[in-house]
Amino acid sequence: MTARLTRADLLAPRLAARMTEADRRALDIPDPAKAGGRADARRESELQRDCERELTRRGIEFLHLSPRSREKTGWPDLTFAIPEPGSEFGPVWRLGTPMAIEVKTATGKLSPVQVSRLRAMQHNGWYVRVVRDFDEFRRVLAGDTAAGERV
Ligand SMILES: [Mg+2]
Repeated sequence: MTARLTRADLLAPRLAARMTEADRRALDIPDPAKAGGRADARRESELQRDCERELTRRGIEFLHLSPRSREKTGWPDLTFAIPEPGSEFGPVWRLGTPMAIEVKTATGKLSPVQVSRLRAMQHNGWYVRVVRDFDEFRRVLAGDTAAGERV
């Protein structure tokens, strides 16, 4: 199967977002802020990829579920644990915080099933946040409780 690529597909959406409206029009590149669901999904997966690279850089294991996965509908995009500062390995476990992060674009909305899943996880003791940009994600990792949206 061969996908037909447009100029917009060849350009990173973040780059397109930085171009002036006139430059975008001259090059026939749509405004990524108005490009609809497909560009939105791409922006979300790019943010998720950035977050995953950061976790890998820090040696934090995470689970990446395929978007087509149906095993856990509404399961957050990133689930991982971060150790409590200064905690040492005990006889069986090390104290840490289970983190459940839902990645969304600036305008992305949680589905009702995502909301109920995240609330249930929070009830179980997970630290739950919705993150809409990379800086916010880094602040969550740094323990800034004001960073990210609560559910
Ligand atoms: Mg998401």
